[in-house]
Amino acid sequence: MSEVRSTCPYCGVGCGVILAPGADGLQVRGDPHHPANRGRLCSKGSALAETVGTEGRLLAPRIGGRQTDWETALDHVARRFADTVATHGPDSVAFYASGQMLTEDYYLANKFMKGFVGTANIDTNSRLCMASTVAGHRRAFGTDTVPGTYEDLDDADLVVLVGSNLAWCHPVLHQRVLAAKAARGTKIVVVDPRRTASCNGADLHLPLAIGSDVALFNRLLAAIHEADAVDHGYIASVTGFDAALAAARSADIAPTGLAPDLVESFCRLWIGTERVVTVFSQGVNQSTCGTDKVSAILNCHIATGRIGKPGMGPFSVTGQPNAMGGREVGGLANTLACHLDIENPAHRAAVAGFWSAPRLAATPGLKAVDMFRAVADGRVKALWIMHTNPAATLPEANAVREAITECPFTVVSDVTNATDTARLADVLLPAAAWAEKDGTVTNSDRTISRQRAALTPPGQAKPDWWHIAQVATRMGHAHAFDYVGPSEIFREHAALSGIAGGLGRDFDISGLADLTDADYDALAPTRWPVAARRGGRFFADGLAFHADGKMRMIPVHWSEPVGKTEPRYPFRLNTGRVRDHWHTMTRTGRSARLSAHLAEPFVEIHPEDADRLHIAPDTLVEVSSPTGSAILRATITDAVQPGTLFSPMHWSAETAPSGRIDAMVAAATDPISGQPESKATICAARPFAA
Ligand code: SF4
Repeated sequence: MSEVRSTCPYCGVGCGVILAPGADGLQVRGDPHHPANRGRLCSKGSALAETVGTEGRLLAPRIGGRQTDWETALDHVARRFADTVATHGPDSVAFYASGQMLTEDYYLANKFMKGFVGTANIDTNSRLCMASTVAGHRRAFGTDTVPGTYEDLDDADLVVLVGSNLAWCHPVLHQRVLAAKAARGTKIVVVDPRRTASCNGADLHLPLAIGSDVALFNRLLAAIHEADAVDHGYIASVTGFDAALAAARSADIAPTGLAPDLVESFCRLWIGTERVVTVFSQGVNQSTCGTDKVSAILNCHIATGRIGKPGMGPFSVTGQPNAMGGREVGGLANTLACHLDIENPAHRAAVAGFWSAPRLAATPGLKAVDMFRAVADGRVKALWIMHTNPAATLPEANAVREAITECPFTVVSDVTNATDTARLADVLLPAAAWAEKDGTVTNSDRTISRQRAALTPPGQAKPDWWHIAQVATRMGHAHAFDYVGPSEIFREHAALSGIAGGLGRDFDISGLADLTDADYDALAPTRWPVAARRGGRFFADGLAFHADGKMRMIPVHWSEPVGKTEPRYPFRLNTGRVRDHWHTMTRTGRSARLSAHLAEPFVEIHPEDADRLHIAPDTLVEVSSPTGSAILRATITDAVQPGTLFSPMHWSAETAPSGRIDAMVAAATDPISGQPESKATICAARPFAA
């Protein structure tokens, strides 16, 4: 087979790769023509070839642990889902999807659940990643539009990283920022409670208290006003300025714990630099006030008109390779395909008509945390989980594991049965892996890229869209799921986006609805929108997608993270990623090179706390919260603040049973976005005594 252009399956940078299958196995290198990376790859992308292979793969369907054939497995799944819906109603079933899924697969899962099963109980692990950004965008813009592009990072004079360890979590973007610094002197500011790898090369680090971002950006908005830096022309078409400013002016920076001089230096730099991009990620999103944090950042850009123009804007970078594609297809329980709104009757009618859907869901479904609560209390009786590992990664993971165990019927589609979740499934459906399947993904700057197959799926593994279409067909919906391949699904999605565009939505790729199969095969990276009626940049004109066409500023107030520290639980536990692992390591764990970087679960603790608790370097520490505990290796470092701990989230029962961090994380969520707080769990630490 000749070389194939595809994309990396890890983070939301969406780097292009060239796959070269050969007698010595698969070779992978960066694609010099892909606009996201221009040939660069990080350590994870460079090691992709080491992570493919048939070892550990699920090669055939299984029911109750026994191997079976596809016909039997699909009939069984369809019958159990249909029986559950018939007996208990559509809301008694649920689907938990993943930002790892390709857009075509994601689209079909949503069509199946929302249009044909008749429930919006389909949510995704992207709820844990960027739901607060979605909610913040929708409040400000009327739709979930990412205003920024990667070129803005090249053109900025100041890049502010908020709750983002870009150097480890989006390394190729970080390289782009460093290249801009070398080329044009771009200044870099890191706003993060921890001193992370992203601080290397930064001009300023603001080690604010966990969860205090709203207080910092409210001060910035007030300082913008004091410095007469408001763009009055731009905000003439914006609503909510006065209320947002009043909230900002009443705010206090004390919750940040930062020295006032440092805050004022930051404000002066931000206000004095027109080309400023504020990049934000999980430190903003994974919070009980994540939506307010996003609004606080957006308010500053809107007030100064620094949005929708080259080299400036708020810019959410997504964790997963297709978090954006999932947002586009309505992968969240409170959205419809193509950025249409489930609460809007005209939008629902448009989707129902387009799909000829017999029972389009009329109300939002259960968001991730609530979905698994409903599994636990018996409201959800049949569950389909695709390419994600909630028994390891959802907050209060022990309770989630228990809920899945007790669920009357659980289906898991995955490439392996060696995950905490797959071990609990009643039915396992073998899925094609990265480099074995075709489709598209959308990266953090709205660029749609093809993922292409270079390898044949092993055993009986099949692509996800096929799993869904086969079950839907067996549930009586053959007419709506009779697809030959992903190109057909892509065209349907693009055609629906044209209807959405006609209803005033931002996501319109109707210009791609007529692609032939050959065009789809050859599709080059393309940033949306792709439609005759739209051109230019979003928001350069100050107009947005609310019914009145106006952008909104939202008044926000700082609130303390839910869960107060107390003598029994005096620490706050911050969780995150390490440089060389991805999620629960089902792929990166196969590479000895990647595993060598940080080989076991650990906890970072400040020297003062370690001293007080008699914790020596590299010894084992027991960390416990009200919901779970873990045994972790101590890393004593002043990169974390006194009273706080940091631990990575990658290890599961499969790889380190005592290192399951999410068993400790409380299932507290942002009331608007439903995103869980993963950065501020109250906990205790003490030397581990075996
Ligand atoms: Fe893959 Fe992200 Fe690394 Fe690019 S930066 S190679 S997309 S993990």
